[in-house]
Amino acid sequence: MAPITRAEHRFRIIVVGAGVAGLTASHCLQKLGIDHVVLEKQAKVAPPLGASISMWPHGLRILNQLGCLQDIKTSAVPLNRFLCRDPDGRLIHDNTLYTHVQENHGIGFFPLERQRFLQILYDGLPDKSPIRTGQAVGDVKQFSDRVEVRLSTGEIEVGDMVLGCDGVHSLVRGVMWDYATKTSPGLIQAKEKASLKTSWKTLIFITPGIPALGERDLTVTYNDGFTFLVTSQPDAVYFFVIFRREKPLTWPKREYHTEADVEKLAAQVIDKPVTDQLMFGEVWKRRTRASVVSLEEYVLEHWHHGRIVLAGAPEHGAGGNSAIEGIASLMNHIHRVLPLEQKQTRTRLDISSMRNHKPSGTALNMAFAAYQSERQHRMRELMDLSTMVAKMHTYATPLHRFMANWMMPLLDDRKFADRVGAYIAAAPKLDFLPDVSFTSGRLPWKSSTDGREEEEEVLLDDILEGKSVAVSG
Ligand SMILES: Cc1cc2nc3c(=O)[nH]c(=O)nc-3n(C[C@H](O)[C@H](O)[C@H](O)COP(=O)(O)OP(=O)(O)OC[C@H]3O[C@@H](n4cnc5c(N)ncnc54)[C@H](O)[C@@H]3O)c2cc1C
Repeated sequence: MAPITRAEHRFRIIVVGAGVAGLTASHCLQKLGIDHVVLEKQAKVAPPLGASISMWPHGLRILNQLGCLQDIKTSAVPLNRFLCRDPDGRLIHDNTLYTHVQENHGIGFFPLERQRFLQILYDGLPDKSPIRTGQAVGDVKQFSDRVEVRLSTGEIEVGDMVLGCDGVHSLVRGVMWDYATKTSPGLIQAKEKASLKTSWKTLIFITPGIPALGERDLTVTYNDGFTFLVTSQPDAVYFFVIFRREKPLTWPKREYHTEADVEKLAAQVIDKPVTDQLMFGEVWKRRTRASVVSLEEYVLEHWHHGRIVLAGAPEHGAGGNSAIEGIASLMNHIHRVLPLEQKQTRTRLDISSMRNHKPSGTALNMAFAAYQSERQHRMRELMDLSTMVAKMHTYATPLHRFMANWMMPLLDDRKFADRVGAYIAAAPKLDFLPDVSFTSGRLPWKSSTDGREEEEEVLLDDILEGKSVAVSG
């Protein structure tokens, strides 16, 4: 297919990856009336991979704006008890966190099977035609006025920007780095690339409901070097055995897992108690499917360059939730730089009626920079917290063991929930859609626009001083 020139196409975004971030992006772009395509390498949008993804109140607030909340509520029940156990399976802390979360935000935590969750996102799309499965992206080329995305079939998709939602082992990220190295030498340092670490390896599986694990509980059983993390629902149990690596892998090293690894990891813990009544072996034999996943965890310094911007969330504890929140933030900033004509036409669902209403390259760059600045801080906060929690649960040092066994049970659960609540309440929602926040909670939601004017002035100054990389067009 011959490349289309800029004048011939309207503002168009090429999204790579139809996981949590990519599907959420399509929802938002459809609401904004922005032409786009989502390219997914898998043959199916919601493959039977992984176990569960937990939706937090702030992710649910965004999904409510996108019309997906009802399906989530009918597919899962909110968590009730949070039970922490020692290596013998003895209960050491019955944490009332989830009761307080419900009181604080008017809604709780919903753990959904990952496959079901992706299916809900897909089924809820008003128009499914932008989602193209079986389309692996092989390369991205940037020009002053467009991007060209080459598929493994040789076909080329042309647009104004690329949104990389292609997961932890992102091809788009690599292309962005190569491009930055050519056009802005020295911008991406080896230190940034080496910050991509794989510190954990997780055995993930699903079983039918197991009464001893409750119907809506989270059980964490601490151990030396690994931890059991179990989420129960009335008809299913989502099981994660998280192993701490002695030495983290540093990018570009990565590990590929086989069926033999699944069995080998299970054998290592087969004789360990999950609770004071249940051994791991008893749960393992009930699995319906199992896999091993090694996720890189990082917070990059640079989330965009030229016409490429990265999204998604490489984070264990709240990865899916953070991916949704990140897309909301990016879409808010893109919406703010859309030309007025496009904002006016978006209320008409006929996106073919929009012609050539494009934000300039500099405007896009401003939106990307604002998004990066808003997200980086929150992602660092979350990454620090989740690393600390994972280290406590796997007794990484005597201090982490002491914190898990003695300090956490003595903490005031309400104060802990309020601390988590401050993070939840500060999350963005979609500013261009009606506010459908849950209002019955005791903690107020912070508006996404709080403090934005000041932040934008600083960003504008950065761009004018050349601290951000502007693109022409
Ligand atoms: C196999 C697997 C199982 C997981 N299981 C769990 C789990 O049980 N619980 C949990 O909380 N988190 C799990 N995660 C992590 C969690 O899904 C992510 O952290 C979170 O969903 C972030 O979403 P994302 O959209 O950034 O990435 P992902 O959900 O990983 O989506 C990335 C998508 O991009 C596609 N893609 C990649 N490269 C290309 C390419 N070159 N061209 C086109 N498409 C491409 C992938 O096929 C995938 O669909 C799992 C991740 C994986 C990969």
